[in-house]
Amino acid sequence: MSVRVRYAPSPTGLQHIGGVRTALFNYFFAKSQGGKFILRVEDTDRERYSDESLQDLYDTFNWLGIEWDEGPDKGGEYGPYVQSERFDLYKKYAQQLVDEGKAYKCYCTAERLENLRAEQQKDKKSQQGYDRHCRELTAEQQAEYEAQGIKPVIRFKVPLEGKTVFNDVILGDVKRKNKDISPDPVLLKSDGFPTYHLANIIDDHFMKISHIMRAQEWLPSGALHVLLYEAFGWEPPAYCHLPMVMGKDGQKLSKRHGSTSLRDFIAKGYLPEALINYVSLVGWSYDDSREFFEKEDLEKLFVLEKLNKAPGVFDYKKLDWFNGQYIRKLSDEDLKSKIVPYLQDAGRVNNPPTSEQENMLDGLIPIVKERLKLLSDIVPMTSFLFGDLAEYPVEDLVPKKKDTSAALDILKLGRSLIEKMTELDDEQLEEEFKALSESSSYKLGDLLSPLRVAVTGSRVSPPLFASIRLLGLDKALERIDSAMVILDK
Ligand code: GLU
Ligand code: ZN
Repeated sequence: MSVRVRYAPSPTGLQHIGGVRTALFNYFFAKSQGGKFILRVEDTDRERYSDESLQDLYDTFNWLGIEWDEGPDKGGEYGPYVQSERFDLYKKYAQQLVDEGKAYKCYCTAERLENLRAEQQKDKKSQQGYDRHCRELTAEQQAEYEAQGIKPVIRFKVPLEGKTVFNDVILGDVKRKNKDISPDPVLLKSDGFPTYHLANIIDDHFMKISHIMRAQEWLPSGALHVLLYEAFGWEPPAYCHLPMVMGKDGQKLSKRHGSTSLRDFIAKGYLPEALINYVSLVGWSYDDSREFFEKEDLEKLFVLEKLNKAPGVFDYKKLDWFNGQYIRKLSDEDLKSKIVPYLQDAGRVNNPPTSEQENMLDGLIPIVKERLKLLSDIVPMTSFLFGDLAEYPVEDLVPKKKDTSAALDILKLGRSLIEKMTELDDEQLEEEFKALSESSSYKLGDLLSPLRVAVTGSRVSPPLFASIRLLGLDKALERIDSAMVILDK
């Protein structure tokens, strides 16, 4: 059997990191099996549909560099790949079930259903959900409703007894008593729109989907879907419900934990290769040790058997670490082209950069490359190089367990060494500082820290000497002088 899998998002919101993981697993599974990866847009919920969400879907996968073999923009043998263009198909098959007595028309008004719901709320012990009122209507009763001009919905006749079992690749046998399945769900609404259940299984069937890999929140729908396949006389695909994605606190990943939309991750300056690598390890592993996987590796190595049953924890810190690792792998030229837009957005660099700024950029790449975690870190990390130094707290100039006069003393001593920068390289200069540390009572760190704050405005910065060279010695000395003036007050 050839592998055909699909990602079937509803364009009702921005692409979520959990959805992206579902898509990646489907994509890697297809690639590793020589199969096909299909995009299907499930846009039957017209109230929640938005063009922006649809655009976001295309933009984010374009950014990730993940392509489908068949989809709305690609075409394919089994299209259209947008559900709103397949309504005739859904109608036809809903009617078929009615004709075969496996589904029925329900004429209940919204008002009746609302009252029913209110009653059930009062008496929590009673049967909840639709009361199957129209399940056994006679032909005369139906004709009467029709004569009143009521447009029916079509409901599926869920068997009242027995149980439904299906096999899930990860979870094994999943059993559900039929009486616990929501009573007679709607397949086709009165306006002819299909519900998720109907459209989803018809499309999976006609698009010849072999495996359904989707978020675990869809597990409760599994039994109903299997019953629908049986009703149509179709073979259900293999199921594989993916482990949940949790925050570190064990709760389902949500905005409380941090960014969840891919758009936010992109804006912060994650690299697609880092995101793909890390996200693929949430709920999946290759073995106990290997962590680095390029997209091309996963296209070969991904196997379903290595998916975990237990939820995966999304660790933002670990993702940041991966991102840093991938930033180090970029060429200087590549990194430059990626950070320039952040500096331009922050108003630090012109568009296009002036030649002076180009030189500055070329110089700063090597000194920031080892330290960046996110591309957007470039803005705070290099603000001291562009324009005037922002104000910093005076106490930052004073090393721990030292006082103002010591800080002043250190700046004086340090300044006299920094002045020699034109004749010494960074290593020699460091030797000078080490010698000073030995001959004075100051540790090397205590000597460098006030200078760092004076020059960069921050206790953490790229390497100090390289930063000073980039800034220009005169400017650096001026800043050291102003710091001394402040301390002297
Ligand atoms: N449209 C559903 C979603 O938004 C698809 C669920 C499925 O894969 O069956 O997740
Ligand atoms: Zn009814």
